[in-house]
Amino acid sequence: MNTPAPHSAHASIDIGANLSHPRFSKDVDQVIYRAQQANISHIIVTGTCLESSTAAIALCQQYPDYLYCTTGLHPHDASQFNHQSYQQLIQLASHPSVVAIGETGLDFNRNFSSPEQQIHAFEQQIALAIELQLPLFLHERDAHQTQLDMLKHYRPQLVNAVIHCFTGDQQQCFNYLDLDLHIGITGWICDDQRGLSLRECVKEIPKHRLMLETDAPYLTPKTQPKPKLASKGRNEPCTLSYVAEAVALYSQRPLAAVVEDCAHTSRLFFGLS
Ligand SMILES: [Zn+2]
Repeated sequence: MNTPAPHSAHASIDIGANLSHPRFSKDVDQVIYRAQQANISHIIVTGTCLESSTAAIALCQQYPDYLYCTTGLHPHDASQFNHQSYQQLIQLASHPSVVAIGETGLDFNRNFSSPEQQIHAFEQQIALAIELQLPLFLHERDAHQTQLDMLKHYRPQLVNAVIHCFTGDQQQCFNYLDLDLHIGITGWICDDQRGLSLRECVKEIPKHRLMLETDAPYLTPKTQPKPKLASKGRNEPCTLSYVAEAVALYSQRPLAAVVEDCAHTSRLFFGLS
């Protein structure tokens, strides 16, 4: 059967959208309105540095019970992590809308901060997540073994962690699942070239470990038909249904079940009401 637009009766949750990114500064209210129209019940706004985490909290205050956020320092910005950062992050994370620490982790692909700086900032944020008993929102690119070893070491003390925007292969997926981590899937899976290995392993992820995200303004799903829901050369949370549709297709499960299960898993993971 040919379904023109992937719609499900169940609301979905976008666990990663960079709504405090400058590309949303002019029309974030419309972006959120379109997400609500697209049956998205909650969005977790990603904090990537002190400034964007602060902005994310401010945005959450405008949309209580709809927006939640993470606070942390992205591996790209790890060089900014100094002796004050830990206390500053503790302060930010005490806000009730903060539901995870991150995004943090390791990115040895671009090394915008040195590997040593990244490892230091990551270790500090792991400690913070343990101290506050909050889950970790994790990024990893070309640093699988080091990240895995660090997580293995601290896993017994961590409440939970999600590898956001997972783009690795099947073995890496199994390694993370063996640590009882959650996996976040973005529009990467909609890409006929880059998404192939992800399509292979998505069916192996248990439904209570799988969550959906757009990573907006990045990673617009290539399966988005015209006229486009998200335009201006950026992605928006309202395209989340295309990620859900691809997950349903490649894991051979009904779309409604994927949406419902991912939303349920996300609610539990972030402690949403
Ligand atoms: Zn990321």
